[in-house]
Amino acid sequence: MKVCKFGGTSMANASTIKRVVDVVEKDPSRQYIVVSAPGKRIPADVKVTDALYACFNEVKKVGNCDKTFETIEKRFHDIVAELGVDLNVDDDLKVIKKSIEESTTADYAASRGEYLSAKILASKLGFEFVDTFDLIKFNEKGELLLNYSLDKVKAKLSKHQHAVLPGFYGTDTMGKVRTFSRGGSDITGAIVARAMDATVYENWTDVDGFLTADPRIVENPTTISCLSYKELRELSYMGAEVMHPESIFPVHSIGLPINIKNTFNPDHPGTMIVKTVEGEEGNNVVTGVSGQKGFTIINIEKDMMNGQVGFVRKVLSILEYEGISFEHLPSGIDTMSLVVKDENLNGKMQKILQKIRENIHPDNIEIHSGLSLVAIVGHNMAARLGTASRVFGALADAHINVRMIDQGSSELNIIVGVDTCDYEKAINAIYHEFVKEH
Ligand code: ASP
Repeated sequence: MKVCKFGGTSMANASTIKRVVDVVEKDPSRQYIVVSAPGKRIPADVKVTDALYACFNEVKKVGNCDKTFETIEKRFHDIVAELGVDLNVDDDLKVIKKSIEESTTADYAASRGEYLSAKILASKLGFEFVDTFDLIKFNEKGELLLNYSLDKVKAKLSKHQHAVLPGFYGTDTMGKVRTFSRGGSDITGAIVARAMDATVYENWTDVDGFLTADPRIVENPTTISCLSYKELRELSYMGAEVMHPESIFPVHSIGLPINIKNTFNPDHPGTMIVKTVEGEEGNNVVTGVSGQKGFTIINIEKDMMNGQVGFVRKVLSILEYEGISFEHLPSGIDTMSLVVKDENLNGKMQKILQKIRENIHPDNIEIHSGLSLVAIVGHNMAARLGTASRVFGALADAHINVRMIDQGSSELNIIVGVDTCDYEKAINAIYHEFVKEH
C-alpha cells in the first residue's frame, strides 16, 4: 500500500488535478492521498495559502477580507466547474470567510486551502474525505505530538479503504487549528505513511526528483536517484526546496522509503530516499550541493579562552535569552565564532554585542555580514581521503575566499562560508569538481 502526497503545483487547477487523478487511478495500491492547497499556476501567480494569510491581514487592516477572498472563491469555483465534480463549496466558503472575519487565527485561515483541496479531490476520486482536524495533534507550543497523531490516524483510516486527507494542519490540545511551518503537508504525508505502515511514501511534486544542485545556479544539474534520510535533511535544511526538512522524522526510525515523483512526468523513477544508500549510487563522493544566503558571523576573541570553564555557555545563554538560534559554532584556542541567520537576528545585533561586551569582556569582537553558506553533502566523504583538499582546491581555483569552515562530526557534510558575491561561483566550482563526475 502506498501513501501519496501531492503538492501545490499538482493541485493548482482542474487540468493539473486531472493528472493527479490519472496517477492515483493507475495504481490501485495508492490508497491514501494527502494534498496541499492549490499552488501557483504560473510563476507570477499567488498560492491559495498566501492569499488566505493575506485575507487574515486584510481583516486586521480594514475589518473584512472582501477583496482577497473573492480571488480565492473564484479559484475554487473554477476548479470545481472545470473538474465537473458534484460538490457545492459555497457553504464551506461562506463559513471560512465569516470565521476569518470574526477573530480566528492566521493558522486557521491558512489551513482552509488544504481543507477544500482535499474535499474536491476526494469527490473527484470517489474516495472518503477524512479531515486531519482531530487526527494530527500539537501541544500548546505548536509542537507535533507524533505518537498520539499516529494512533489517531491509524484508528481512523483503518475504517476506510481509500481516503483523501488535507495536509499542513491539525489542532492543538485546546482544539485550535495549528499548522506546520510552510510546506508542511510533506510532514502530514509522512505521518499517514508511517501510521498505515505503507510500503512507500510517494511525494508527488513538479520536478523529476531531488537535484544535485539548484537549477537557478547550475546549468542542468543531474537528478539524484537515491539518497539517505540524513543527506536529504542536510541538503534541504540548507536550501534545497523539494521537500520539508522535517518530513523524514515520522518515517526514518522504521526505514520507510520516500519516493519523490513528478506529477507532470510520472514515468520518471524520481528520487528514492532511504536509510542507507548502496550499490552504484553509493559510490559517489558527493551526493549534492546546496546553500543559502543571508548569514552573519560574530567573531569573539579572548586570550586564554580555552582555559576558561563556561565561556561558551555564557555567550550562548545571551543568545538563548534573546531567543536567537545559531547555525554553526566554529572555534579556535582564543576565538569562537557564531554563525547566525540574518532573519533570526531580528535587529537585535547591537543588543547582543552590548551584552557580550558587558558580561564576557572579550578582547575583540568582529562582525562579518553578507555571508553565504555552501553545504557539500555526501555519506562517502568520511571514507574518502582528499575530499576536503578537492573542495578547497576547487574554491581556490575559482579565486573564492573561504571565510568559515565547519565539518559535522558525522563527516557527512562540509560547510563553507563565503562572501555572498561569491556564492553562485562557489556552488558551480564544487558542482563541477564533484557532481559532474557521477
Ligand atoms: N499550502 C502550504 C504552503 O504553501 C503547505 C504545503 O503546501 O505543504 O506552505
